Amino acid sequence: MFYIHCPYCDEHREEEEFHPRGQAHLARPADPENCSDEEWGDYLFFRDNARGIYHELWVHSIGCRKFFNITRNTASYEILETYRMGERPAVTAESLADKQKQSGVQAADAGWQTVGARPETVALNESSESRSRVNKEESV
Ligand SMILES: [Zn+2]
Repeated sequence: MFYIHCPYCDEHREEEEFHPRGQAHLARPADPENCSDEEWGDYLFFRDNARGIYHELWVHSIGCRKFFNITRNTASYEILETYRMGERPAVTAESLADKQKQSGVQAADAGWQTVGARPETVALNESSESRSRVNKEESV
């Protein structure tokens, strides 16, 4: 059980009160009658499948029943922020990559490997490496 902050209720509520509704910030084609089948198909069916920072539409279905957006790290499941409809996210993949550059941390590619990674995750990776080293030594 974990809690999600609803920006309308301004409270942390149990996860079971919420439902995800897919990718956020999808713009409907301005003139659907005159867009190509490919453009319309992209709008209806195709979604990003990002590893790392992802903006999702959620609904507080057992609560205020309002839609809002969540910025989430799909690699660590960490929820970085929630914000109301019509607002812009404070956290984006680009803003985190900029922050890491300013602080002198080298971000690999777009930074998805290190963005939002919890210290435990890093520690687990390090210990599994050292464990494999131990296994190699034992086999010799
Ligand atoms: Zn709510």
